[in-house]
Formats: sequence, C-alpha cells, structure tokens
Amino acid sequence: MYAEDSAGKKVKAEPKKLGKCPSCKVDLIAKCGKIMVWHWSHKSLRDCDSWAEGESQWHMEWKSYFPAEQVEVSMGNHRADVVTSKGIVIELQTKGLSVDDIRVREVFYKNMVWLFKVEKTHNFGYHEPYDFEKDAPVVQMPGKRKWWSFGWKYPMKCLAFASKPVFLDLGKKGIFEIKKIHGGSYFKGWGYKLSNSEFLERSGIIFNPFSALEAVGFMGRPSLIGDVTESIVLNTSAVITL
Ligand SMILES: [Zn+2]
Repeated sequence: MYAEDSAGKKVKAEPKKLGKCPSCKVDLIAKCGKIMVWHWSHKSLRDCDSWAEGESQWHMEWKSYFPAEQVEVSMGNHRADVVTSKGIVIELQTKGLSVDDIRVREVFYKNMVWLFKVEKTHNFGYHEPYDFEKDAPVVQMPGKRKWWSFGWKYPMKCLAFASKPVFLDLGKKGIFEIKKIHGGSYFKGWGYKLSNSEFLERSGIIFNPFSALEAVGFMGRPSLIGDVTESIVLNTSAVITL
C-alpha cells in the first residue's frame, strides 16, 4: 500500500510516482492498472518480506482505516500490516497458513491478533446457543457480552493452532471473535460478534464517541497445544488488551 518517497514519507501508488521499499530500500514500481488495486511492486517481483500476501482490496480497506504510520510497519525483515496505537499487531490474512507459519509469526510479533477473511464458500454460520439437554435456548447472563455458537464446515484448519486472539471478517455480517474451537474435520465453537467499527474502536480508531466509551480490550484466546481434534481449553489469564 505504501512506499517511501525521497523524504521518507509514506506514499500510495499513483501513476508515474517513485518510491522505495521502506524495508529493503530498493526502488518500487507503481502498478496502476485497471483491474488490480493500485499497488507498489518490487522490481524483482519478489517481495523482500517473505510473509507478504499480495495486496487485495480487502487488505487495502482495513489498512485505510488507520493512519499511515500505523500501517505496514517494518519490524526486522517483516512488515506488520497494522500496529495499533497500543502496539498490538493486526495480521490481515485472506488465506489459511501452515501451522508453522502461525507459530512463527506469533512468536515473532508476540503482541498480535489475527484477522482472517472468511469467504461464503467456507460455510461459516453462527446461531444462538442452544442447550440440547434442556431442549431450550441457553439463558445468557444479563449484563454480560452475548455469546454465539458457530459451525464452520470448511474451516482454515491452521486456526486451531493459533494461540493469539482470532477474529474472522464475515463481510456484511461483521466480525466474529473466536473464543473456543472444537476442532475436527469441521469446526464448532463459540465466540462473540462485533461490528467493524467496534473492532476498530478496540484498535484505537474511534468512529463514534458514544459507543467508544463501551470499548473493551481484546481478550486473549488461550493457546492450544496438541491435536486439532481436541477442544481448545480457554485460559482466561492469556490476555492481550488493546
Ligand atoms: Zn523490500
């Protein structure tokens, strides 16, 4: 999304504009075609950050909510997609990763949350929790955040190995914050729903000064050690607060 101009300022790709990669400092080419999102490209066509995942419209949209200095922040050999004002990295992902990638990035960034884009074809659905033994909807604690059950037919299985908080971007349905996954060939579990603006508020981006008063921190999701088929045990002491 950004290159560095001769004064070291972050600039967006525009036709004929010149810029350098903020990490490796080579000249970048502004690709401003009719089909792809305008973006910068390394001349070698290989990004110096091996973790870089092509610049989709979705990446651009999320990054555009944050001030330029909080976007594509160089950290060692990598560029964090977003770093919030409290120093939490938000990793934006449109595709599943390998289990190793999940672990390596979590170790590298430490203070981070995942935001994965979920497609319709993944068949993710949430519903009011139901107690099948009592054959009645679960009674939710008044005054507490309402939680939802989910089922995910074609999940990104790597997420069962994430130990940092995982948020799913469901498109028009907003964001789903996963609190517990029961792994397997498909996932079930529970979590919370939040709107895009609530997610941004928790990331330090204020849209609505009234609802911002209710903003709460990202709660940590517990680490999973072991098999995907095992339930993830919630460890409420693992907290990452924005
Ligand atoms: Zn570079």
